[in-house]
Formats: sequence, structure tokens, C-alpha cells
Amino acid sequence: MAEFRNEFSWSFTRHKTFEECRRRYYHTYYGYWGGWSPDAPDRARLTYRLKNMTRTALWSGDVVHRLIERILGDLRNRELNTLTRYQKQARDILNREWMQSVEKKWQWKPKHNVNLFEHYYGTEIAPEDRAAIRDRIYACLANFMNSTLFGRLADLRPEAWKSVEKLDRFKVGEVPVFVKIDCAVLGDPGLRIYDWKTGKEVDETTTQLGCYALFAFQEWRVPIEKQTLISFYLGLDRAVEHVPTPSELIDTKDFILGSVGRMAEALDSSIQKNEAREENFPMTERRAICRRCSFREICFGTREWTPEIENWKP
Ligand code: SF4
Repeated sequence: MAEFRNEFSWSFTRHKTFEECRRRYYHTYYGYWGGWSPDAPDRARLTYRLKNMTRTALWSGDVVHRLIERILGDLRNRELNTLTRYQKQARDILNREWMQSVEKKWQWKPKHNVNLFEHYYGTEIAPEDRAAIRDRIYACLANFMNSTLFGRLADLRPEAWKSVEKLDRFKVGEVPVFVKIDCAVLGDPGLRIYDWKTGKEVDETTTQLGCYALFAFQEWRVPIEKQTLISFYLGLDRAVEHVPTPSELIDTKDFILGSVGRMAEALDSSIQKNEAREENFPMTERRAICRRCSFREICFGTREWTPEIENWKP
């Protein structure tokens, strides 16, 4: 049987983690390794548990993505349900996963049971905040199903669907790069790549979509001028379209290679061996980032957030 190795790869999420806190990057991509096994050292098991933790904002965004994937699947199969039905399904998911977190089911299967940061670290979620999460999800689904964009998708022929929420891999230089495109369809006048956004508008979207455009260019052979990248801000009911240019494609490639180079410098070995030591990945000094970080328990040895930690210097 082939050896199961922690292989080096690049993704936009990995890049963001690396730039935000090197220690978090270490925990997320190296320290957790093997922590899924009951026989693993306690530290690796704790790291694996914390790596799989999520925050309510991310969790609710993930629920929206899962529901849209379901809606699009039903649309393609001509089995589309009503908006109310999908909102009820979202509520059922929220209730079920909320209880997984409350009942700590993640203790046995961290990857398959939701563990909310707020529960784990004792941050109160008021009933009205929980209701607001549900209402935001309902609004995102309503905006999606009532949009012109959804109407266009409903009119597509079966062969026009290119990808929905599929994890794809391609290479930039020698490095495997992962992308997960929310939705890509072939239409008139070309390829349309959609990204569902549940948060506010941010600049980094351009780089992330640039990675999708590069993937579509390299793997699907779609010329850059035939691509349209669309960020749909579901909560705001606003779609932002962008046609990438050849120079943006070059910039994206350079961006990825630059990011890979910085990650490689921090390793103890070649990228192929992918060996890392924790001490080479310093903790951030920005305590505001730590306060929201799942790995707090490892870095500070406690789940409490105290004035000493607030003022602590590495
Ligand atoms: S708690 Fe702070 S130092 Fe530790 S991994 Fe998280 S952000 Fe980095």
C-alpha cells in the first residue's frame, strides 16, 4: 500500500493562513498530522480537534454553500423545491449541528461533528444572535433563488454545467494547487465562474478568482477573454462581474509562486519532503487575531482569555 504522506500543496486559504499567523499555519498544515488516530500523541489529537473547529460566521456561510449546492443539484435534475422547503432544510441542519456542538459529539469524530468556537471557548451566543444567523441564511437563500442569475442557471442545457463545489487540483510550476469553484457553467458568450459570498465585499476576492481563472485556462483550456468571474454577495443581493485579462493571469501565477517560495523557506527540507518544525513558525504578536483563533488552547495552555494573555509577548 502506498505511504500516506503529508504532501505540500498550495491553496488561497493556505496562503491567507500563512500570512496571518505562521504558528497557526504550522498547526493547520503540520501539527495536526496523524491526530485523527486514537493512538496519536495528545498534542496532535488536540491540534486535530482544534483544526476542525469552526466559528458561527464560517459555519453559517458553509450551510449556505451546502444548500446552494443542493438547490443546483435539484435544478439540474428537474427536482427543484420551493424556497420555503430549502429554508426549512437549512433550519434542520442548523439545529442538528448546533446540538452536535452542544453535546460535544466532536470528541469522538472531530471531522464529522460541528464544534463551534463560541461553545468551546465559552463565548455566549444570545438567542437573538442565533435567530439572526438563521435569518441571514434565509435571506441569502431567498436572494439567490429570486436572482436574475438563478434564472439564467435555470435555463441552461445539461451539458452547460461544468463544475459545482468540486475540489480540483492543478499544477503551477511543480506545485499542486487546489481550487474549489462554487459553480462554473458554459454559456453565451463563454465560461461563467460564480463565487457565492456570504460576507462583505473584500479586495482579496480578485486574487481568489484569479486562481479559478488560471485553473480554467490551464485545465479546461478556456481562453481568458472568454471567461467571466462573478462574485455574488448573497446577503447584499449584489453580483460583481469581472472579465480577467492576460496580465492578471500572469500576476496570479507570480502571486502563487511567490507565496509558495515564502512557505518553502520556512521548511526544514525540500518541498518534496515537506518537513517542518514548530519553532520555525513564530506566533503572531497581534492578540486580536489570537482572540479569534481556534488554536488558543495550544498556544496559551488554557481556554480562558485573561488580561495576562492579552498583554503577553512571545
Ligand atoms: S493563538 Fe495566536 S499565535 Fe496561536 S496560532 Fe492562533 S493566532 Fe497564532
